Amino acid sequence: MTAILNSYALDAWFTPSQGLTTIPSAIDGRPVAQTSTQGLDFAAMVAHARAIGGANLRALTFHQRAERLKALAVHLSAHKDELYALSFDTGATKRDHFIDIDGGIGTLYAYASRGRKELPAERFVVEGATEPLSKTGNFIGLHVLTPLQGVAVHINAFNFPCWGMLEKLAPAILAGVPVITKPATATSYVAERVVRLIIQSGILPPGALQFICGGVGDLLSHLTGQDVLSFTGSAATSRALRDHPTVSRNAVRFIAERDSLNAAVLAPDAVPGTPEFDLFIKEVTREMTVKAGQKCTAIRRIIVPRALEADITAALSAQLAKFIPADPRAEDTRMGPLASVAQRQSVQEALAALTREAEIVFGDPAKAHGAYMPPVLLRCAHPLTATAPHEVEAFGPVATLMVYDTLADALALVAKGEGSLVASVYTYDPAYADTLLFGIAAYHGRVLLLDRDCAKDSTGHGSPLPGLIHGGPGRAGGGEEMGGLRGVFHYMQRAALQGSPARLASLTRTWLPGAPAPVTPEHPFRRDYDHLHVGETVLTKPRTITLDDIEHFAHFTGDEFYAHMDEQAAAANPFFPGRVAHGYLLLSFAAGLFVDPAPGPLLANYGLDHLRFLKPVSPGDSIRVRLTVKRKSPARQPEYGEVRWDVELFNQHEETVARYELLTMSARARHAG
Ligand code: NAP
Repeated sequence: MTAILNSYALDAWFTPSQGLTTIPSAIDGRPVAQTSTQGLDFAAMVAHARAIGGANLRALTFHQRAERLKALAVHLSAHKDELYALSFDTGATKRDHFIDIDGGIGTLYAYASRGRKELPAERFVVEGATEPLSKTGNFIGLHVLTPLQGVAVHINAFNFPCWGMLEKLAPAILAGVPVITKPATATSYVAERVVRLIIQSGILPPGALQFICGGVGDLLSHLTGQDVLSFTGSAATSRALRDHPTVSRNAVRFIAERDSLNAAVLAPDAVPGTPEFDLFIKEVTREMTVKAGQKCTAIRRIIVPRALEADITAALSAQLAKFIPADPRAEDTRMGPLASVAQRQSVQEALAALTREAEIVFGDPAKAHGAYMPPVLLRCAHPLTATAPHEVEAFGPVATLMVYDTLADALALVAKGEGSLVASVYTYDPAYADTLLFGIAAYHGRVLLLDRDCAKDSTGHGSPLPGLIHGGPGRAGGGEEMGGLRGVFHYMQRAALQGSPARLASLTRTWLPGAPAPVTPEHPFRRDYDHLHVGETVLTKPRTITLDDIEHFAHFTGDEFYAHMDEQAAAANPFFPGRVAHGYLLLSFAAGLFVDPAPGPLLANYGLDHLRFLKPVSPGDSIRVRLTVKRKSPARQPEYGEVRWDVELFNQHEETVARYELLTMSARARHAG
């Protein structure tokens, strides 16, 4: 009996019984599963996400959410084999599973790690510096990001049922926004299994994740300005969603990742025999054949110097001849079928449009059968005036070769794609690299510069990475996903806060200049992490800097730079009145002034941030230090926490001479000696 796929709504599985659609296997067309969403209450799902999922997620800190993402990644890793087994029916080979299944799990790990390292143990983010808004310093501004109080609706394409879902899920959950996710029906059986594993694990709180397996009904009519609609798929569907009356009326945040005619550009220096020529052939071949070319980032336009056309055609044809589409389960299969017969038909329709302006130079589309489609290389004779090769995306193992005579023509050809996810450039010549990179960057979300120096470590043209932007302007949809925390912030609202330093410091649990800085009788280094208070301050006694100090430091360290040693030369320097103290001498004296030396809860100093030397210090000047607890963050280990201190050095005229943030580790109360 064919399996019936369930949706997951209101924290319960929903088994459809009406209007079932049968999903065929890419391998042989046999029914794999059936699904339908008839009977799902979409309004209730949205309300449930907002009321239960959102509240539950917002009750957690970023660090707690990050820990749940990591637990999910560990849990899914333990079930990879069953996901691989299912995934064969989508047409994916073993190497394709690695991108979809392992790539999806890897993205969860990456966001878990970033959430722990780059976000605070809080429920909001303070972004950037404070803005002084008055002369007295009693009125300031700063920016904070808080999670939207709606739901993230994710609609995905068929080609990466696991990765496509998880790369959207991870940033939304980390931000604190519940998710309703919908895979493309054609490969939804893989996504359903991933969601089943997630739900069985119990790692996410109630309401955080709901799953629609089939059509979305009236879901979009229930969205508001607190919601995010993130879509991956075709330009036509993207337009329909963006123009949905509720989406446009309520200014629902809309992220679109769609068709992209990505280019690979070979520069004139990369002639046969150079590593860059070989890299180009390898990369184009790989991009045309991985996932049988059903990759949004695949190379569709191959842009090469006219003089190299014959060599490129011969080399690519020789490589592509090694890829004969076959059963993806067989060990020696290098390229599987497309996702369905319908997908193969759509590729052949696109090919028909392309062949009106380009000719086939390798491959025989007549050899296609079932969902199996052989690689096809086209050549466009007049690419600067043609339109189809720059507009028609054959979402399969198909790409078009086009030649250029000048670099300006190469740039024009790339631009005719009207915005792509990624381009790759192959050259070892710095001038070509400069012209090509800065000529095409504005049309792309990512540009790979591939040459012999980075080839071994390169992640390749087609791999979106959690730390880098995935998205592109224009035709590619104008969206951005991932890009590290940038992807998380899509699910948060940025608000400018205005108020007194005292109020904003207490609300953000961060000491800000102008906020109270009480000097406590006991040195804060004597207090453990849990008993330290943001704002408490040490104000040291002064120390006079002598010429002997400067000379001693210079000889001791070897830093005998003339500004410290030669009165005449120092005075001739526009920054100094004469000989001045070393900045590092001031830092060392500052530590000598504020440190409390006896063993205690303060464990280590692990760095400085934002150090600035603001005014020179001359022999005879004296310095004092104000050391203030700026922010506390619990560390991953329970034994200690991180303390960030604001450190200000000022002279006998109360002028600030240096400022920085000092980072230390302090023992937690139960571990302090
Ligand atoms: P598609 O037909 O546009 O479908 C994409 C998703 O939209 C599917 O989940 C589909 O659900 C859903 N959908 C279709 N009509 C809808 C509607 N009226 N309301 C709500 N949802 C609707 O695209 P596809 O054929 O799956 O994917 C291929 C395309 O995606 C290619 O053009 C490719 O370039 C693009 N793509 C882009 C990226 C990227 O990151 N930029 C990544 C992968 C793919 P059903 O399956 O249930 O119809």
